[in-house]
Amino acid sequence: MAEYTDPREFGGDEAAVDMPELSDGDDDDDIGNDEEQWQWAEEDEEDSRPANVTCLFCDRLLSSVPATLQHCAAEHQVNLVDVIRKHHLDDYGYLKMINFIRSTKCDASGLTGLPDASLPWESEEFLRPVLQDDPLLQTDPEELCEDSSLSMCPSSGAKSHDALQQRAQAAEERARSSEEALTRAMDDLHKLKLLAQGLVLNAEAGRPGNPGAVAELREDEDEAYFSSYGHYSIHEEMLKDKVRTESYRDFMYRNPEVFKDKVVLDVGCGTGILAMFAARAGAKQVIAVDQSEIIYQAMDIVRSNKLEDKITLIKGRIEDLKLPVEKVDVIISEWMGYFLLFESMLDSVLYARDLYLADGGSVYPDLCNISLAAVGNAQKHQDHIAFWDDVYGFNMACMKKAVVPEAMVEVVKEDTLISEPAVIQTFDCNRVCLSELEFASDFSLKIKNTTDCTAIVGYFDIFFDKGCGNKVMFSTGPLATKTHWKQTVFLLERPVSVQAGEELRGKITVRKNKKDPRSLWVTFDLGDRKQTYSLQ
Ligand code: SAH
Repeated sequence: MAEYTDPREFGGDEAAVDMPELSDGDDDDDIGNDEEQWQWAEEDEEDSRPANVTCLFCDRLLSSVPATLQHCAAEHQVNLVDVIRKHHLDDYGYLKMINFIRSTKCDASGLTGLPDASLPWESEEFLRPVLQDDPLLQTDPEELCEDSSLSMCPSSGAKSHDALQQRAQAAEERARSSEEALTRAMDDLHKLKLLAQGLVLNAEAGRPGNPGAVAELREDEDEAYFSSYGHYSIHEEMLKDKVRTESYRDFMYRNPEVFKDKVVLDVGCGTGILAMFAARAGAKQVIAVDQSEIIYQAMDIVRSNKLEDKITLIKGRIEDLKLPVEKVDVIISEWMGYFLLFESMLDSVLYARDLYLADGGSVYPDLCNISLAAVGNAQKHQDHIAFWDDVYGFNMACMKKAVVPEAMVEVVKEDTLISEPAVIQTFDCNRVCLSELEFASDFSLKIKNTTDCTAIVGYFDIFFDKGCGNKVMFSTGPLATKTHWKQTVFLLERPVSVQAGEELRGKITVRKNKKDPRSLWVTFDLGDRKQTYSLQ
């Protein structure tokens, strides 16, 4: 399916137009980006920065967070990293500690010998920043603990290798649990925000608040998604994608036995093109459902082609409707998004399958692969990443932290591929269940050239296979004819040098963005590098 243009136009932000904004004003904020933003800039950038970090215990201004911590250790004999570790402070604990010190102006000696059980900064009031734009509050305590220069601060003394390793493990453990806690907290916040917005909306409408408010809001968000499909242009783009549309057509026309005298359900019919192919292929009845306004055009189109006796068009979300039949023999749908799963429309197809598909019935397309390959394109990397090092003579390197985590949708040139492709996931739409659409998979890419790997490219292949005498497939990969899905490119911040013949091993994790289940988080672990990308 074509991708709706800019989800930010109608996801959280459109909701913000219609509803009072109750918490954060920027729905694009996400955990991945926050993580990135919390990393302080690299050391060579720090030297040239103005002194803007106020010491916790005196009035001295320092040029960076690490410099401030080193100053605290040398001048005030307090190693904050030790305090963070000793009390196992998570992100919140750390924030509260900083605000506690600043608001109570406590003496450095007051931080030593505190009992673990009751810390003086436990109150939520210490979440409130004391200084505006305090760089210490924008710092990830985990990063501080990992910074070896800070572990070696005078008050700590030199640490043995073993001790450092233990610290690294403990930090990793803490990072994991903080990440989980943060994700839970973000989810809770989001739910609260929806609830609060629902209450306000209900109050405005003179209705009492009700528990359905959250569901209503979800629907509001979806309304924006569906309204993007109301415009003709997105359908024009899909119909003009010959690889896509002709594959569906060829599958139906070349396998009439699959359709002859069958009841077919088209989930998300758009202009009705797939429903009409199915009718021409011999279906007895086609029920075509779409929630977007485009269905009114489909009604005219179906009539213009004298197929109204065969095709029943119903406006609505498949999840909200009661179909005029108990069961269907075949389900067809074009639900694929960028990197296959973006847009999460497969969820709706699985819903329809589980409710309406007769025993022995089939969903088409039935098989889908997601593949990865390594890319070596120094020029592209330069254009997107190194570019920020010198912009009209100014250093904008901090922008890289915003650029890298956004996966790019673009066509990858064949001659920039530097590995064999590897399939990392296969779905059978007749069997897969919802929970399997979030997954983790180890991969190994066989490198063909000795060069720098600058990105990983992802794409998918689609198969019409089950029970087909004439099987049909298409690929959205860089070796195949271009489709409107192009490819999805995950840029590496620092290129990895690779040797011909080596296996580049890694792990990919794909999960839904809980704040916006139609968008995805994709995490790559490549040896010592880990990067989460959003696909919005
Ligand atoms: N089948 C058409 C359109 C595909 S685009 C074609 O191949 O050209 C996907 C369509 O599915 C959009 O028109 C969208 O409005 C619709 N859609 C997505 N989720 C849906 C749902 N849950 N219920 C009904 N329609 C849905």
